[in-house]
Amino acid sequence: MSATTSLAEVARRDLPGLEDSIVGRGDQSYDEARAVHNGMIDRHPAVIVRCSSAEDVARTIAFARAHDALIAVRGGGHNGGGLGIVDDGVVIDLAGIAEAVVDPDSDSVRVGGGCTWGEVDRATAEYGRATPSGIISTTGVGGLTLGGGLGHLTRRFGLTIDSLLGADVVLADGSQVHASADEHPELFWALRGGGGNFGVVTSFVFRTHPVGAAVMAGPTFWPIEQTPEVMRFYREFLPSAPRGVNGFLALMTVPPVDLFPEELHLRKVCAVMWCVVGSEDEATRLLAPVHGVGTPLLHGVAPVPHPALQSLFDGLYTKGLQCYWRADFVNELSDELIEHHREWGQKLPSMHSTVHLYPIDGAAHDVAAGDTAFSYRDAQWAEVIFGVDPDPANADALRDWCVGYWDATHPYSAGGAYVNFMMDEGQERVRATYRDNYDRLTRVKAQYDPDNVFRVNQNIQPAAAA
Ligand SMILES: Cc1cc2nc3c(=O)[nH]c(=O)nc-3n(C[C@H](O)[C@H](O)[C@H](O)COP(=O)(O)OP(=O)(O)OC[C@H]3O[C@@H](n4cnc5c(N)ncnc54)[C@H](O)[C@@H]3O)c2cc1C
Repeated sequence: MSATTSLAEVARRDLPGLEDSIVGRGDQSYDEARAVHNGMIDRHPAVIVRCSSAEDVARTIAFARAHDALIAVRGGGHNGGGLGIVDDGVVIDLAGIAEAVVDPDSDSVRVGGGCTWGEVDRATAEYGRATPSGIISTTGVGGLTLGGGLGHLTRRFGLTIDSLLGADVVLADGSQVHASADEHPELFWALRGGGGNFGVVTSFVFRTHPVGAAVMAGPTFWPIEQTPEVMRFYREFLPSAPRGVNGFLALMTVPPVDLFPEELHLRKVCAVMWCVVGSEDEATRLLAPVHGVGTPLLHGVAPVPHPALQSLFDGLYTKGLQCYWRADFVNELSDELIEHHREWGQKLPSMHSTVHLYPIDGAAHDVAAGDTAFSYRDAQWAEVIFGVDPDPANADALRDWCVGYWDATHPYSAGGAYVNFMMDEGQERVRATYRDNYDRLTRVKAQYDPDNVFRVNQNIQPAAAA
C-alpha cells in the first residue's frame, strides 16, 4: 500500500467479488455505514466490509491480518462502548447474514450472525414460540447472545445462551468450525458469555420455547417518591414468584406517547415492567399483591404478542441517541442501597435516562457458574444505569449522573457487571466479571485466538500473555 492508496482501495483490489460491499473514507455511504446505535461513539474505520457469507468473513479476516489492521465485528451495532466499530481498522459487518429460519420439527431456529432480535421474534412467533432475548427488537443477536442475554423471558426460560444449541464460527486463522456440546465443547463453553473473543459467529442455532399467541405484559407505575416501598416489595415478591413471572424494575420518566394517559406524561416514576408467560387469569392472580403496594398510578398488564412486547421500547431508544452506561450485578437490595436508588432516581438527567434491575434468577439459576462462561449465575439482578438523551450538549450531564449513581451504589454490588451493559472499563473489570471462569477463558482464547486477533471487545487475553 503506498502513501496515497487507502486501505479501502487495497481491499477492493485484494478481495475480488466484494468490491461493492466495501466502504471506505470518502465513500458516500461511509458516515451511514460507520454509525452505531450509541451517538456518543464517533469512530472512523479504514474499511467496512459488508459480508454475506462465512467465506467473506474468512477472507476479510485474512486481509486485515495481512495489513496488521485491528478487526471489529459488527452484529447489530448496539454495544454501549461501540465495540462493533474501530478507528482505522477493518469492520466485518454481518448485517448481510441475517436469515432466521425456524425448524418446527426440532423446536429450534437457525439465525444468521448479523440478525436482529426482531427478525427472530417474528419468525418464531409464527409457531407460538420464542427464544429468550432482551427487551428491544433492534438489538443484534450476535452481541447480546455472546454476552449472555437477559430480558423478559429470563426467569422462565433462562439466559439466551441457555437456549443456544450450536454456532458456526470463523476462527482467527480463517478456518470454519461448528461449536456445540459435542463439537469443540470448550469453544462452545466460552461462546456462552465470553463475547466476541473467540471468532466470528456466522450462524446460531437456538432452542425455541412455547409462549402462545400472547404473553401478559405491561408496566405498573408508582410515584418516584414511593421507590423505597416498591423496591422493598419487589425484593421479596419477585424471587419467590413462579418462574412464569418476570418483572424488571425501572426508575424512569413516563414518555409522552399515546400508550400512557396524558396526565402521566413526563412524570418520574418507579416502575416494574411485567411479562407473565401464562393466561390472563393467571397473570391477574399472580400479580394481585402488586395492587397493595403504595398507590399505583397505572397497572397496564394486558395480552401482548411476544414480538410486539419486544418492540415496545424501540421507538424510545432509537439509533443515534447519546448513551452512557454503568452496570453491576446485585445480590441484595438492602434498605441502605434502596435509599441511594431513591436519591439518584429522582435526579434522572433526561426523559430517556433510566435505571433498570433485571432479574437473573429462576431458570437462569439452574445452570452452574462453571457450566458456561457467564459466571454470575448466583446473582439476583443485573443493574444498568443508562444516561440517554438526543442532545450531544447533554453528554457530560449524562456521564456525571451515571458515574455519581454508580459510585453510590457499586459498594453494595456483587463485584462484576454484565459485559453487555459495560463500556470500556478496563481489564480488571473484565476479570471481575468472569471471576473463576476467567483463567479457563484465557486458555480457550490461547487455543482459538492465540494472537488476540479479536480484541475489539471486553477482551480476554490469551493465556500465555495474560
Ligand atoms: C437500547 C438497548 C437495549 C438493550 N437491552 C438489552 C437487554 O434487554 N438485554 C441484554 O442482554 N442486552 C441488552 N442490551 C445490550 C446488548 O446486549 C449489547 O449492546 C450487545 O453488545 C449488542 O449486540 P450487537 O450485536 O447489537 O452489538 P455490536 O455493537 O454489533 O457488537 C457488540 C460486540 O459483540 C461482538 N459481536 C457481535 N456479533 C458478533 C458475531 N456474530 N460474532 C462474533 N462477535 C460478535 C462484537 O464484536 C462486539 O464486541 C441493550 C442495548 C441497547 C443499546
